[in-house]
Amino acid sequence: MLSDFKTVGRKIPKTKKEILTFRTNDDTIYIGLMFVFTEGRVRFVKRYFPKLLGNDKTKERIGAAIECGTLPHAFLIGGESGSGKTTLATEIAAALNCEKKKESSTPLPCGECNCCKRIYSGNFPDLKVLSKPKDRATLGVDSIKDFREDMFLSSTESDYKIYVIDDAECMTTEAQNALLKVLEEPPKSVIIMILARECDKILTTIKSRAQYIPMARFNERELEKYLLSMSSEARELKATDPEGFGAVLMSVDGRLGQAFRLSDKKYAAECAEERSDTIRITKCITGKRSYKEINEALSYLPTKRQELLLSLERLISALRDLVVIKSSATASLLFFTSAEEAKSVLGQASLKRLMSAYDEVCKTHELCSKNANITNLVASLAASIRFI
Ligand SMILES: [Zn+2]
Repeated sequence: MLSDFKTVGRKIPKTKKEILTFRTNDDTIYIGLMFVFTEGRVRFVKRYFPKLLGNDKTKERIGAAIECGTLPHAFLIGGESGSGKTTLATEIAAALNCEKKKESSTPLPCGECNCCKRIYSGNFPDLKVLSKPKDRATLGVDSIKDFREDMFLSSTESDYKIYVIDDAECMTTEAQNALLKVLEEPPKSVIIMILARECDKILTTIKSRAQYIPMARFNERELEKYLLSMSSEARELKATDPEGFGAVLMSVDGRLGQAFRLSDKKYAAECAEERSDTIRITKCITGKRSYKEINEALSYLPTKRQELLLSLERLISALRDLVVIKSSATASLLFFTSAEEAKSVLGQASLKRLMSAYDEVCKTHELCSKNANITNLVASLAASIRFI
């Protein structure tokens, strides 16, 4: 019942249209436009971006900007993969084009009209998405220039032309400068959404011309609540493998999308395999193995750059955990599910050895992200591990 809604943090105005945050009796939070109500009773509530969970402040801010027609022409949406950047960008695109956006009692976007459906299925001519090619480490200037030219063409059918740049942190400096040109004088009715995992790689000049939206991280309690209420795979995982479910909650670092992916059986199996590969390599580092054994363990590393980067990140997290355990620090673990598991891998390794290995793997990760030859990188890492 809407009359059961309580406002959170703000006093209810008497007869006014206002964006408010609501909390229902079962603790669900809604953000929406609340219309005239009499004697403190809410008539109806318009919800914003129903597909995006959490991120209440962002929903409130962007929802209000769309209602008032004050949406900026560019956004920089920052967050790790799986944190909801693409969902938010898609929801904004749908909200701007939704055929029912004037209907005050329908959520925005409605998710059911022709425009919304075509946007969700990636089949809307005025929404264009640019991502880094899978086999490349960077997003080059030519792609940005093509994108920029397209912005000056008239729209196919809608009032807005929306451009999403995914993997924006991979743009070369030249590409970023090409993007900057259009941000300085954007064509009318163009909305540009720049999605980046690492915003510190984006030029300050771009940042100053785009509204920054950081995606929220969820705590483990929130992650568990959303996962269990929305995913039968997650419920099954919790019932059959509570430890595995706990490991998912811990390993996703507050990213809900990632938690959904990992709760899937297929991903859970892949995740388990990746974990065991990481542990195999970590044991080589802690246990002072022969060159042959090290090469054998490193042969499990993926040969594709993006996958290798992720594997190295897992290895960095595992080594960081061992440093935490060895130095009796109190920080929470990033890779291992318990201190016992970490101690079983730690063995007799000294803190100095762990720190040196950590530095070597970080160095390898950095060179890998800068396009260094992968075969040479892995060979050099094997040699470094042998001699630390
Ligand atoms: Zn719609």
